[in-house]
Amino acid sequence: MRLHEYQAKRVFAEAGIPVPDATLATTVEEAVDAAGEIGFPVAIKAQVHVGGRGKAGGIKLAEDADEAREAATDILGMDLKGYTVDRVLVEQAVDFVNELYVGVTMDRGAGKPVAMVSTKGGVNIEEVAAENPDAIAREHVDPAYGLHPYQARKAVYDAGVDREVAGDVASILSTLYDLWDEKDGSDAEINPVMITDDDEVIAADAVFNVDDDALFRQSEIAQLEGETTDDDLEAMANEYGFDYVRLSGNVGIIGNGAGLVMTTLDLVDHYGGSPANFLDIGGGAKAGRVRNALEVVFADDNVDSVVFNIFGGITRGDEVARGINEALEEFDTIPNPVTVRLAGTNSVQGMEILNTDLVTVEETLEEAVQRAVADAEEVAQ
Ligand code: GDP
Ligand code: MN
Repeated sequence: MRLHEYQAKRVFAEAGIPVPDATLATTVEEAVDAAGEIGFPVAIKAQVHVGGRGKAGGIKLAEDADEAREAATDILGMDLKGYTVDRVLVEQAVDFVNELYVGVTMDRGAGKPVAMVSTKGGVNIEEVAAENPDAIAREHVDPAYGLHPYQARKAVYDAGVDREVAGDVASILSTLYDLWDEKDGSDAEINPVMITDDDEVIAADAVFNVDDDALFRQSEIAQLEGETTDDDLEAMANEYGFDYVRLSGNVGIIGNGAGLVMTTLDLVDHYGGSPANFLDIGGGAKAGRVRNALEVVFADDNVDSVVFNIFGGITRGDEVARGINEALEEFDTIPNPVTVRLAGTNSVQGMEILNTDLVTVEETLEEAVQRAVADAEEVAQ
């Protein structure tokens, strides 16, 4: 689960990390009022789950009420990399001399959490990580002991942070690690930590992602969930109880079992296509669930073709096939060509039952994926 910047900042502030004064606004009037109360200049920031909002025009500084109105008008309702902005954070602007990067994540290669600091913070940290990885100081953490204070100081000194602010930055890193650990974080990031000319240290941006599988024991974070989903398709899929992730391609994918769906994604990529989503309908493939899955995938404007990859186990292939037929019959029009691959128990019977007026049946997964990729290419032209 990804928190919005304003939510992550609340969590960070409660733990003692300094953040600017800020108010959330959903209308232009609210934004202008909030700016007046906070005092100018303010930064007006789109609250959507995309990185690089600054570069994409989702962050504007305002010196007075007129500029605040103009900025809020521009940003509220704008499309930011496919997401419509319905909330802005109005925040006291920070006059900074330096921008640092501070982050905590799991280093899967090392099998350990890693705490990171860089003086090359700001909007280009991804490029820094790719081109100049040495510019990011890293300390691996033994989770049994946590981040030792000396490790936090070492990361800060290795990164080359100015002595005047080193203590404060180390303390932010320690707090961030503790939060990441206590709240089952997957990624925690402050980019930038802004340094002012009188050596104040302020978290000007905040990313906090929490492991979905830990939400049952993170009730405070879980409560924020209703506010976090800004993707209509993901919200719909959540409601139907699917594991769903929206991707940027045009081949819709539906399967039962995470491994099966991942394999299908990989094969779509292998055959030159681009997956539009991950959708695991889970065990069984009764008509109702298949219908709901199709509704989600068909609702994605990017989708040009759909491939089903179903393994009949306890739910036998013939039942699955009937489910797919019934589900497709419920749609007045089928907006995208659908290809089905069935395997497992009674798959042969299933393939015979499938209504070939509605779907294309392929015997192997390779053939099914190639067909879906070719269909998508044709439709996209
Ligand atoms: P991101 O682009 O989505 O990562 O959003 P950030 O919150 O990190 O903001 C991007 C950039 O906008 C920062 O690195 C700053 O250069 C600028 N910015 C954001 N807030 C302020 C602010 O309060 N004052 C000033 N001067 N610049 C800001
Ligand atoms: Mn940022």
